[in-house]
Amino acid sequence: MIGAGTLGMCSAFSLAEHGVRVTVLDAQSIASGSSGRSVGVVGTQLTDPFDILLRTHSVRQFRDWENLGLSFNHIGYLRLARTAEQMELFARSVRIQEEAGFRSRLYEARELQQLVPHINPDGLEGGLFGPDDGFLDPHEMCTFLAEKVRTRRGNIFQFCELVDVTRRNGDYRLDTSKGGIDCDFVINAAGAWAPAVAEIFGQTLHICPERHEAVTVHLDEPLDYTMPMVMDLVNGEGTGLNFRHEKRNELIAEIHKVSSPFPEDPDNYNDQCDEESKVKLAELLLERVPELPGARLGRGWAGLYPVTADHRPFVGAIDPSEPNLITAAGAGGYGIQLAPVIGTIVTDWVLHGAPVSIPGTEILSPTWERNVPAERSSTTASVRDTEKEIEDHRKSETAH
Ligand SMILES: Cc1cc2nc3c(=O)[nH]c(=O)nc-3n(C[C@H](O)[C@H](O)[C@H](O)COP(=O)(O)OP(=O)(O)OC[C@H]3O[C@@H](n4cnc5c(N)ncnc54)[C@H](O)[C@@H]3O)c2cc1C
Repeated sequence: MIGAGTLGMCSAFSLAEHGVRVTVLDAQSIASGSSGRSVGVVGTQLTDPFDILLRTHSVRQFRDWENLGLSFNHIGYLRLARTAEQMELFARSVRIQEEAGFRSRLYEARELQQLVPHINPDGLEGGLFGPDDGFLDPHEMCTFLAEKVRTRRGNIFQFCELVDVTRRNGDYRLDTSKGGIDCDFVINAAGAWAPAVAEIFGQTLHICPERHEAVTVHLDEPLDYTMPMVMDLVNGEGTGLNFRHEKRNELIAEIHKVSSPFPEDPDNYNDQCDEESKVKLAELLLERVPELPGARLGRGWAGLYPVTADHRPFVGAIDPSEPNLITAAGAGGYGIQLAPVIGTIVTDWVLHGAPVSIPGTEILSPTWERNVPAERSSTTASVRDTEKEIEDHRKSETAH
């Protein structure tokens, strides 16, 4: 397993649970990549049936881990709508979630203050709210899973970078900064670095590292309610903001910009929040929650979304003639909540040579149609007009 972020650790956990002897390498430390820079939101409030299916699987796994001691803060998740069309998609989401046994409901604009007393509903049609969703600490999640992997005879090697590989009769000899490792399967779960790892194996992988920023918001007085995760994206553009409870007098907010066409270098990008973004974030927050008591921005940071052309992760082999080399990467702004389901699909590929546990997940394979630079995505080009609108809407739900 190359990478000890959420995708690598969930895959390692799932394989170890199925009796596979796993070794995880990370060039740095556990959760030191995108996973440790995320805001940790897990939820099912999406509009595409397949996207919801994937998350329901993940959430069931998170519930099991919660019972084993992983902390999960059930603050609820509110996704806001600005148009009647979006409310219709939300109504469909409620039906799909209900069928899967998940609670969610629609709120009209005038009812939103029941959930967020400080909200300004101007310009909103309403929202979709899942009371059981919430957030966790991805670093804690990865170390929790590392412990479980170790107790199943797995190894986690930190500060151990993959630098080269030799193929030997279908097996691999991995050259790392700490020596050689022999194995029969390799999982590339290196997040924003996954293209560089693919290159070591002579493969081409198209994942665009996209920079995103988050900031803490301090309040003079604690709120007398728990701020749910509030996702306020502008329809079809993927811009806007989100914010959630962190502590009683602290929120965490994230700003969404139209993404830059240039991929970031994961070894050399600005990992701090720009002052300009803080100003924009303050404006958006003031617009949506104008009366928060003495709100002021605190510490900010930036991290990378590893994004694919169609905004769905890659899980499977790039080259069908080399099925033992599996990619699990490209989860974009959803790599915490999708990690458990991705771990299950990776295990299917390793043990069964096909994704057998969750219907339809073979479409996540990095086939030549999907593994393309963002601007050449054939998925977008081939869909018909109304389907394209829904697809654009799905892709604009770029975050959590
Ligand atoms: C600001 C921000 C907020 C976010 N909020 C959320 C959220 O609320 N919910 C959500 O679901 N997602 C969120 N995300 C997205 C999420 O963080 C990512 O999708 C996820 O962390 C990707 O996990 P990963 O395991 O693929 O990659 P990473 O966590 O980056 O792990 C990859 C690992 O591979 C290692 N590696 C690289 N090269 C090598 C090598 N040659 N040898 C060995 N190891 C190597 C790296 O050191 C790294 O630790 C957010 C992201 C950001 C930036």
